[in-house]
Amino acid sequence: MKKKIVVLGCTGSIGKSTLKILDEFSDLFQVVGLTAHSNKNQLDELSKKYNCKNICLSNPSADGVEGIKRVIADSCADICVNGIAGAAGLLPSIYTLENGINLALANKETIVMASHIVYELAAKNKCKILPVDSEHSAIFNLVEKFGKDSIESVVLTASGGPFRTFTKEQLKKVTVEDALKHPTWNMGQKITIDSATLANKALEVIEAVKLFGVPASKVEVTIHPQSLVHSLIRTKDGVLYSQMSHPDMCHPILSALTWPDFTKSSLPPLDLSNNPVENPLTCTFAKPDLEKFPMLALGFKAASLGNAYPIAFNAANEVAVEAFINHKIGFYDISRITENVLSKDWSKLPVTYDEVLLFDSMARDFAKEQLC
Ligand code: MN
Repeated sequence: MKKKIVVLGCTGSIGKSTLKILDEFSDLFQVVGLTAHSNKNQLDELSKKYNCKNICLSNPSADGVEGIKRVIADSCADICVNGIAGAAGLLPSIYTLENGINLALANKETIVMASHIVYELAAKNKCKILPVDSEHSAIFNLVEKFGKDSIESVVLTASGGPFRTFTKEQLKKVTVEDALKHPTWNMGQKITIDSATLANKALEVIEAVKLFGVPASKVEVTIHPQSLVHSLIRTKDGVLYSQMSHPDMCHPILSALTWPDFTKSSLPPLDLSNNPVENPLTCTFAKPDLEKFPMLALGFKAASLGNAYPIAFNAANEVAVEAFINHKIGFYDISRITENVLSKDWSKLPVTYDEVLLFDSMARDFAKEQLC
């Protein structure tokens, strides 16, 4: 029996990598639903290619989020891959779990904004949340093998972004064009800026706290520019265990799609002692500079304060990054705005989806006030 797969955001970066995997393993998987935000031509092409008529164009002027809801409900899927970018990915995650479908999750906002809601739904409908983000996929697999009780702390690796070696003076002057030249991973615009400010890592710290049930004080971040070690766990006896491979999103996607099994893949294995690109192969690890990259410090703050702080962090960052992309603010205004928004009181835990949205829009309004 083939596993039936829905791909949300099929024309985006995660969506494309997922379809690449599904092409390679067409004996294991069948596409039973596809959604794209606005690229109609590409969606129609993919619909033909996979002979999948359960599709929707999810931008508000077409089918909107109701279309995504229908695609998920009509799919009878085993796994839904959520590769939708931003807060718009939250509701589709909820629909997936409401339909009792396992969720392969690349959308950070789902966990950052509403982890308690989605985990409750997952438990109620007996389905699994499988992280697709490379760091969390690595930690997820390690935690599965070693058991949650053996974990002392988790260690997230970070490439450090394109400005890793810049001074604070240089950072003040960087533009969106500078930031869009990201060295290792090939991603969309917003996440590329997030990886330049380390806000992406900050969101991943929050995610790690929520996905693995560890306090923020037990999450470490280490700068590892080679992106070969995807993350590590530290067990109670003080030993580190890591997951390594070439930096390619196909690895975590394949891992989520085949969970709990391991499948032989045609992806090139990492050759440690005869690496074609770099020989000898070096892996370096360094402490992140929280003064140069204040978004990471703010992420730790939001992660440890919990409640609605992660929502406020995410919303403020989204508003600020959009303004940065539109050349309205500078690099350090992103953290200034986020810090100001976090200084408000976010100590109430939103229980329902509507409350999550309410806090989200309050934080966006505060952030927009800081733009001028
Ligand atoms: Mn990541």
